[in-house]
Amino acid sequence: MESITAVKGFKDVLPPETDKWRQIEMTAHEVFSTFGFKEIRIPLIEKTELFCRSIGETTDIVEKEMYTFIDRGEESLTLRPEATASVIRAYLEHALHAAEAVTKLYTIGPMFRRERPQKGRYRQFHQIDAEILGPDDPRTDAELILMLIHFLGKLGLRNLNLEINSLGCAQCRPAFREAIISFLRGREEDLCGDCRRRLSANPLRVFDCKVETCAEIVALAPLLPDFLCGECRGHFEKVQACLSLFDRPFRLNAKMVRGLDYYTRTTFEVTSEFLGAQNAVVGGGRYDHLVRDLGGPDIAGIGFAIGFERLAAMIPQGVADAAVQGPVLFIAALGERALETAFLLCNRLRMKSIRVEMDHTGRSLKSQMKRADKLKSRYTLILGDREISGNKAVLRTMQTSTQEEIGLDCLEETIIELAR
Ligand code: AMP
Repeated sequence: MESITAVKGFKDVLPPETDKWRQIEMTAHEVFSTFGFKEIRIPLIEKTELFCRSIGETTDIVEKEMYTFIDRGEESLTLRPEATASVIRAYLEHALHAAEAVTKLYTIGPMFRRERPQKGRYRQFHQIDAEILGPDDPRTDAELILMLIHFLGKLGLRNLNLEINSLGCAQCRPAFREAIISFLRGREEDLCGDCRRRLSANPLRVFDCKVETCAEIVALAPLLPDFLCGECRGHFEKVQACLSLFDRPFRLNAKMVRGLDYYTRTTFEVTSEFLGAQNAVVGGGRYDHLVRDLGGPDIAGIGFAIGFERLAAMIPQGVADAAVQGPVLFIAALGERALETAFLLCNRLRMKSIRVEMDHTGRSLKSQMKRADKLKSRYTLILGDREISGNKAVLRTMQTSTQEEIGLDCLEETIIELAR
């Protein structure tokens, strides 16, 4: 019978890669909580309207990439393509804004977009997402970016490119919109079908079109930062000044608009040449109207999403290996009575938080010793029926290859002592 494989664009994460994932998650928990963030866990499925209203009807994500279905209750539901909209939905639904003036939340989990799968791009991928809701001052933007760079640094990643831009606000965007529309109108013929269609509805989206001819046109287009109003310019300059205080290099990228409609003012991306074509590892930005647009009060926000798979690809496996320890003890049991004793001892020690392994099949001593070596066990306990009759066992220290006999009566205490 033909075997069943995973769905295209959905991939398994196997050990030892999972050790790396856990290492990344633990670092995120540690760093984010130091900066005052609390974890939130949100559903994978939301009402479709949540994403249409937040990400934007004319974005690639909403137009082409969402996994949307009508459930048995005749409701249109969507597997979340990103986390920000869900975090804000939960923030409003549970009135978290009423409890605190500043809410810092983070969440880690899978997202779903039906993109063309390739290296670094999957249909189910994972993100580490952090959001600050409440303040709109530039120090908040800088603080979030600094936390991000610090987090990446803690994982050993230093030679990354941080690019920032400002997308302005409701005051300055209309003038830019006019300028970009009149620039593109003269070149309509050369735009792809999508961009032609989006031209008047959402001209900013032409900036993130992946078609080459559109990219060539955009290279000559007017730039958003030239249209910023005084307040937005002041905000952006202050963000840069705050980042400079910490000696974190960044580059201004006037063409970075990000693929979601809700961004205002500061946007940023972290890229790495190491990743090849799909080189963005983090994307983020400010969204000062999203909470209001989702039916809440006028509360500002800023956040980022780190691509887990791309982040993991940049971290050498050795980093995680060092953190993962082998067992303290491997019990090589030979014979039925020995297996019984080993089974008891093994699981009693595990319940005392000591890492112990054994082989239930009673294979030859040689092959069990090989396994102990492979697992990098610190000690091996050799237990045969003859040893049991003599009320003793042989304890081998793997690094020095020395052996000693220990009495069965004090076996458990001896191992607990050694494991300390
Ligand atoms: P976005 O939510 O589009 O701003 O993306 C934020 C980050 O998520 C990107 O910088 C990528 O690292 C990651 N990402 C987005 N889409 C995918 C995908 N289809 N596969 C893998 N990672 C992705």
